[in-house]
Amino acid sequence: MTKALFPGSFDPFTKGHDSIVKRGLKFFDEIVIGIGINSTKKYYFTTEERIEMISELYKDFSGVSVIGFQGLTVDFCREINAHFLLRGLRNGADFEYEKNIAFTNEMLALDIQTVFLLTEQKYAAISSTILREILNNKGDISEFVPEGMKFPK
Ligand code: ADP
Repeated sequence: MTKALFPGSFDPFTKGHDSIVKRGLKFFDEIVIGIGINSTKKYYFTTEERIEMISELYKDFSGVSVIGFQGLTVDFCREINAHFLLRGLRNGADFEYEKNIAFTNEMLALDIQTVFLLTEQKYAAISSTILREILNNKGDISEFVPEGMKFPK
């Protein structure tokens, strides 16, 4: 069984993230969507809200689970026995940023392999940061999030 952790803030989860999970399932038997909890960061949706919103999307996928975690990503990988770290790339800037995280994680944990999947081109402009801006200005983000995503009331 191959298990990957897909870590992120997912604030909110987007069509781009969904596409990485769906493509990842072609390579991994199990994908754990790990919501990193950083006490110094301000989020739009609470961890519980994000867990609920994302779990609902994958309720019919036995290979996908959603958990919040604190601390080092590689430590959490070991805790759940995942040997792969899945990350999505939209462009060169993502690559430059992700590359340094991956190199550092490799120094911390040689037994955990980072795997990058390129996003589908049509989702390359979707970013959670921009979606939070739209939400803060009372705009509609439904076009950018997976169909059927339920927002907290
Ligand atoms: P983080 O706070 O760790 O950057 P994000 O929730 O923004 O978390 O992103 C989680 C992962 O999803 C990262 O690997 C990021 O590059 C990737 N990602 C973000 N947006 C997209 C997208 N539109 N398509 C594919 N991957 C994406």
